[in-house]
Amino acid sequence: MSPVSYPYEAPQSQSLFDRASVVTPGGVNSPVRAFRAVGGTPRFMVSGTGPYLTDADGREYVDLVCSWGPMILGHAHPAVIDAVQQAVSRGTSFGTPGQGEVELAEEIVARVAPVEQVRLVSSGTEATMSAIRLARGFTGRAKIVKFAGCYHGHVDALLAAAGSGVATFGLPDTPGVTGAQAGDTIVLPYNDLAAVEQAFKAHPGEIACVITEASPGNMGVVPPLPGFNGGLARLCRENGALFISDEVMTGFRVSRAGWYGLEAAGEGWAPDLLTFGKVMGGGFPAAAFGGRADVMGHLAPAGPVYQAGTLSGNPIATAAGLAQLRGCTDEVYATVDRVSAEVSALVSDALAKEGVAHRLQTAGNMFSVFFTEAAVTNYDEAKTQEAFRFNAFFHAMLAQGVYLPPSAFESWFVSASHDERAVERIAAALPAAARAAAEATA
Ligand SMILES: *Cc1c(COP(=O)(O)O)cnc(C)c1O
Repeated sequence: MSPVSYPYEAPQSQSLFDRASVVTPGGVNSPVRAFRAVGGTPRFMVSGTGPYLTDADGREYVDLVCSWGPMILGHAHPAVIDAVQQAVSRGTSFGTPGQGEVELAEEIVARVAPVEQVRLVSSGTEATMSAIRLARGFTGRAKIVKFAGCYHGHVDALLAAAGSGVATFGLPDTPGVTGAQAGDTIVLPYNDLAAVEQAFKAHPGEIACVITEASPGNMGVVPPLPGFNGGLARLCRENGALFISDEVMTGFRVSRAGWYGLEAAGEGWAPDLLTFGKVMGGGFPAAAFGGRADVMGHLAPAGPVYQAGTLSGNPIATAAGLAQLRGCTDEVYATVDRVSAEVSALVSDALAKEGVAHRLQTAGNMFSVFFTEAAVTNYDEAKTQEAFRFNAFFHAMLAQGVYLPPSAFESWFVSASHDERAVERIAAALPAAARAAAEATA
């Protein structure tokens, strides 16, 4: 256990966590919500407004998690709440097509040029799982390439993240994923184009697709090196494989058109398929995958690759997502970019003042701090950081009312609602947190 002390109490959260731990494995419904990495009791939140969350003990926090990305307009944004209330009053699910699905699909197609057609699903996991199935069905090939440290949801074949070196065959990282499920997954080091080239050479005509986070945020923020994504697109084209860019985190967050809009559009290449989630659901379970019409046309009922969902395109989720995307104007992106630059500069300054070795990495308006000196370009490098310093930093921030992701390997998120007051509260908390990081011991 970490030697961090917790100079504050959270009796209501503790009591809820005790009850939750009886009826739910580990007391949480998604592992990242537990405080396993940082220690202590997860905070049970009861409400959110703008940049703030309030926990069961009535304590208010400036939120730098934003539901792991979705809340780009801030919590309980009036336009989203209003759209949800109107949709709810019309009924919650019909099991038929509806207008909201069409409008949300049109909004996505209008924003992201390479998306000619899109299929709505309910989670990012479903989006990547379905995109992989489609790529295999379209190409008639079995193998897929993914990168260590990239997270694509808890899809069996994509949980294989272990293995270092070149063209390692993925071994199941978790019990319950069999060798057969992960055996067609080739795990390569991120940002290593030569490794991808070698994998295509070693498996001619066998690789259905390469899937990558458009800009990884699930090992901390590790942006693609210049030319990496474009190189993947080229290698896939040359070898008859599909290039899947997973924009579940970056999509509609780092720009109107996600990471595609920031990088690819200017460089003149495009993914064949893209996956979306998080921001596009407005806080509800809505996600999507889409891309080339000739590929998407292979999906049932237009084509033979089966994919379905009772709640896909749910009217409440699509109403929330549409309201949120329509609210994501150029002005909103400018604000999110500015706030993220402000907060990351404050964090870096505070750590520098205390002489803490760190590396602030950014990808558009996503950012995270690695407690290490050198630039981090892949998962192995990410793991060399002094995570114990983050844990001390995290708890010092939490004690002062700033809620960070409870892990050193996650992106931080801000929203357009993070105003001056919220940024000032973060600034006020940083000196003590930086000191805690400096004084932390492994
Ligand atoms: C969050 C995430 C997923 C999984 O989405 P869920 O909605 O949690 O299933 C997939 N890919 C990336 C890049 C993500 O950040």
